[in-house]
Amino acid sequence: MALKVNEVFYSIQGESSYAGRPCVFVRLTGCNLRCFFCDTQYAYEEGDNLQIADIVARVASYQCRLVEVTGGEPLIQKETPVLINRLLEEDYEVLMETNGSRDVSLVDDRCVKIVDIKCPSSGQTRHNDLGNINRLTDHDEVKFVIADRNDYEYARQILHLTDFNLFRKNPVHFSPVFGRMEPKRLAEWIMGDHLDVRLHLQLHKVIWSPDQRGV
Ligand code: SF4
Repeated sequence: MALKVNEVFYSIQGESSYAGRPCVFVRLTGCNLRCFFCDTQYAYEEGDNLQIADIVARVASYQCRLVEVTGGEPLIQKETPVLINRLLEEDYEVLMETNGSRDVSLVDDRCVKIVDIKCPSSGQTRHNDLGNINRLTDHDEVKFVIADRNDYEYARQILHLTDFNLFRKNPVHFSPVFGRMEPKRLAEWIMGDHLDVRLHLQLHKVIWSPDQRGV
C-alpha cells in the first residue's frame, strides 16, 4: 500500500503544544484547499509514491519517537489512517496536522490531531467541517491562523458557539500569519478579551529562515 510523499525530514517541532521537541515530519502530497497564506505550495503536486513500509523505515532512520504526519492535507489520501496505525503500532507518538475540511474521526484516537479552523482571510471557511469540534478527543488541539481583526473575531465567534468549552478541554492556538499579523497586536487582543487561548508562533521560522524547506 503506497502514499504520495512530498518529503520526510527531521527537525524541531515548530507548532502546537509540542513545539520545541525534535520530531520527524512526513509531508504528504496534495491539498484540497488553496489558502492565500499557504507556505507549502510545493506540496500540492511534488512527491513520490512510497510503500508504507518504506515510509516507516525512513522515519525509523532518524531515531526520534515523535512523528508528525502533515501536508498538504493528509486526509485526502485514503491510506493515511493506515500509515498512522502502522506508526502507532511501532510505538511512535504520532501527531497529524489537518486543514479541518475532512472528518478527523477516520484516524485512530491515539493519534493527536491538530485541527485547523480556517478563518475568512484564508478564503477557505466554506470548507470547514465544524463537526470535527465534536469529534476531538481530549488530547487533540485546534488552531486558528489569524491575519487580521476580522479573522480574530471569527475565531472568537467559533469559541463562543462552543460556549467556550473548546478551550477548556483542548489546547486552542491563535497563530498570526507570518509577516502579515504582528504577534504583539494579537497578544494584546487575546489579553484584552481574557481569552484562555495560546498565542502560537511558528518556532521553526524563528530558528531558520521563514522560506527554508525541510525544517
Ligand atoms: S490547507 Fe495548508 S497546505 Fe492546504 S492550502 Fe491551506 S495552508 Fe496550504
